Amino acid sequence: MLGAVLHAPGDVRVEERADPAIIEPTDAVIRLSATCICGSDLWPYRGVEKPGGPVPMGHEYVGIVEEVGADVRTIKPGQFVIGSFWASDDTCELCRAGYQSSCVHRVLMGTIGTQSQLARVPLADGTLVATPEPPPADLVPSLLAASDVLGTGWFGAVAAEAGPGKTVAVVGDGAVGLCGVLAARRLGAERIIAMSRHAPRQELALAFGATDIVTERGADGVAKIKEMTGGLGAHSVIEAVGTQESMTQAIRSTRPGGHVGFVGVSHGVELPGEELFFSQVHLHGGPAPVRRFLPELVDLIWRREIDPGRVFDLTLPLEESAEGYRAMDERRAIKVLLTP
Ligand SMILES: [Zn+2]
Repeated sequence: MLGAVLHAPGDVRVEERADPAIIEPTDAVIRLSATCICGSDLWPYRGVEKPGGPVPMGHEYVGIVEEVGADVRTIKPGQFVIGSFWASDDTCELCRAGYQSSCVHRVLMGTIGTQSQLARVPLADGTLVATPEPPPADLVPSLLAASDVLGTGWFGAVAAEAGPGKTVAVVGDGAVGLCGVLAARRLGAERIIAMSRHAPRQELALAFGATDIVTERGADGVAKIKEMTGGLGAHSVIEAVGTQESMTQAIRSTRPGGHVGFVGVSHGVELPGEELFFSQVHLHGGPAPVRRFLPELVDLIWRREIDPGRVFDLTLPLEESAEGYRAMDERRAIKVLLTP
């Protein structure tokens, strides 16, 4: 099969990889209907994370089950399935508490690489959610978005306690931040402030339910949020970038007693204890337990109540993955869908 492999920073090649096979009796093998490039794939692509050699890329996936292991009970060949970037058993104590991304048996799909034609999915019964029937083609991008960016944005909104009566600010206008806007809207937030200085992303934020756009960032962005909230700050802030600047902006934009949901993969962020102490904000985040939300998200997409697939503004054949990475790296595309 073909799959994307990162050889060195900036060097993604689509090449022949071994077809995956069932290794554990709880595995499934799926044929990808669509896959995509994640903002987090840009960290190794830019050399911020150093790969130790050629590594398969990708952790988002939807597809048709080809084969299942002997111990797989609920997932069947022929089903169209969606899974998260962490494979999880969905039965351990942490999974049952809703933290499948910290499952005691978790497997990171990024180590398997799903920017490919086929993929092995560990812990198939716990990891995969099947649709009632194979979806019409126009629903595939939204179902793929549920695999990571929608689920991650949703967790950011839940962790930030977005809800009725709340003012929610969203730091980051990538696909996760935009999905955080969508989630905050669905969760009933009263006012949703998207922080973005890019016109196409502002438009999508408004389409997803943002009520205000703030173009300032850093200290100016914080000042603007304070000004819009009677000097208090937002009740809920979703942090969807993962840098020192964005995390600082998020914490300082939150009112005492408020909540920060941080879902941008943290790189080099350090929090000063004294500022944290006096901020009186709740911090919750980390790798999103997307599996917790998948059944509900798939259902909302199936009933066409949400359309998160709009974050994909560039579609390329898998063979052109290198161009997809360039487009995301240069912010020419919000998110790139790859067709295997
Ligand atoms: Zn578990």
